Amino acid sequence: MKILVANLGSTSFKYRLYDLSGDSERMLARGGFERVADHAAAIESCLAELQTGGSIASERDLAAIGLKPIIARGITGCVRMDEPVLQAMEAYNGLAPAHNPPYVNGARLFARRLPSIPVIGLFETAFYQWAPEAAMRYAVPESWHRQGVRRWGFHGASHKYIAERSAQLLGRPDVADRVRRLYVDGPATPVQAPELRVVSCHLGGSSSVTGIRDGLAIGNSLGMSPQSGLPHNNRVGDLDSFALPFLMRTTGMSLDEAERQMCKEGGLKGLSGGMNDLRDILAGIARGEAGPRLAFDVLVHQTRHWIGAYAFELDGLDALVFTAGIAENNPEIREAICARLDRMGIRIDPAANRQAARGREAVLSAPDSPVRILVVPTNEELVIAREVKRFLER
Ligand code: AMP
Repeated sequence: MKILVANLGSTSFKYRLYDLSGDSERMLARGGFERVADHAAAIESCLAELQTGGSIASERDLAAIGLKPIIARGITGCVRMDEPVLQAMEAYNGLAPAHNPPYVNGARLFARRLPSIPVIGLFETAFYQWAPEAAMRYAVPESWHRQGVRRWGFHGASHKYIAERSAQLLGRPDVADRVRRLYVDGPATPVQAPELRVVSCHLGGSSSVTGIRDGLAIGNSLGMSPQSGLPHNNRVGDLDSFALPFLMRTTGMSLDEAERQMCKEGGLKGLSGGMNDLRDILAGIARGEAGPRLAFDVLVHQTRHWIGAYAFELDGLDALVFTAGIAENNPEIREAICARLDRMGIRIDPAANRQAARGREAVLSAPDSPVRILVVPTNEELVIAREVKRFLER
């Protein structure tokens, strides 16, 4: 079963083609285009590349298109991206201005170009469907809550991948099985004792921390929008809701301008004085600059804050997992996050941490560390392809 997974940005188009049959999972092709002005043209180029590369003989070989949409009013899980779903996404465009519009547009373009091939989306909010209500509520009037003012949680595909893969690596096939079947059977799949308690740290261009008990998310540092939680590359992260009216009233800044700055001038970029990539921030630190140092320290502090919150809620940890561009690649930040946690049972092995090779799974904890520390490269596209296959089999 050949499934094309497309990752759509406002000016980018990346794709992977998977062939999933029985237990075999093969990636047949991958590619992408930057500075895309016309997504319809990018879809044409992608289909042409797949055919010239020989991974499909014709478009009819595709069983489905898989997408990773962010958020829609009243809809989550793995669903067919039909017009009602797209309109429900448009209703929440304001929550994910950089992410929702390209997915809505892309889904319509795929449907027009390949009308007989289903377009299936796995919402980034899906993994949090079973998180405790108390963890997902804001203390707002009920009428606000009914408008959707609540925590949703995002990065669901990545944290689900980590939940399943970490359970396998920790010798818990029962938990991995529950995670695998989650969007088909819900959390009903039984698991054995003792509880498996994992905190997953996805640190990248966009960052979040999730607590996972027996394969089920108990919450996520991202709240109502992908603008919340930890500082992101350009996006602000958690901010007191009164900061915005205060700033607008005292400076006369418009709502549109405040929103733009929260999305484009905040996060690591705002803290560091213009750098939104951790590699540039590390170079700034090496030059002795204060802004980059502050950006690094705030990201470490915030990550520890959320790890602590979930470790407490989980009554301790079995594993702390690092994933995504920053956490997979940078030993300094992993060491800083794990520093002085000896009494929490978190002991990183500095040599193992430094030697961890890019793109590879590794154990970073010292042999006597009660909590295992892992780096696990995430694979969101594979999660989407797997869910699309399950959706079609249903
Ligand atoms: P992602 O969103 O997971 O693709 O992560 C992208 C981010 O990872 C970039 O914006 C960088 O901040 C960070 N990153 C990528 N490669 C490295 C590296 N070699 N060292 C440190 N940070 C990196």
